[in-house]
Amino acid sequence: MGLWRKIRGVGPVAEPPPPRPDGDRPAVAAELGGSVQLRHVDAGSCNGCEVELGSAFGPVYDAERYGARLVASPRHADALLVTGPVTRNMQEPLRRTYDAVPAPKLVVAVGDCARNCGVFAGAYGVAGAVRDVVPVDLEVAGCPPRPEAIVEALRTVTGR
Ligand code: SF4
Repeated sequence: MGLWRKIRGVGPVAEPPPPRPDGDRPAVAAELGGSVQLRHVDAGSCNGCEVELGSAFGPVYDAERYGARLVASPRHADALLVTGPVTRNMQEPLRRTYDAVPAPKLVVAVGDCARNCGVFAGAYGVAGAVRDVVPVDLEVAGCPPRPEAIVEALRTVTGR
């Protein structure tokens, strides 16, 4: 009981958030209000980007406190978070997932592979970068990108 009283007395303790990023906000982001629901699509990643995405939504970087939330269905999403180069097998699923997201919508390409195929450029199974298959509104550089960079990009979308 002593510990419980102490926890209640102290309340939640968190690091102060970093300053709001001053990057250009995609035009469509203004229509989404202050939050964005994201469907993640792994289009052929090595999973390095997924590890960092996991961190970005974990308790340390906590992207949800800025209004970004992962959802299970593209029909519930405002945006796609796409990782990896787009493999031949994932071209059509990515296109269909994009079509399933209701407008207004946007696409965030996460990692160098999503931006320009990265280390997989020219590989026989790679169809192209994400922008070769669906329109891209925002890119996050890095192989893999740091969780801070992912959260910064998502804050650019939510404006928080
Ligand atoms: S950008 Fe790097 S970490 Fe991400 S999928 Fe490509 S090789 Fe893997």
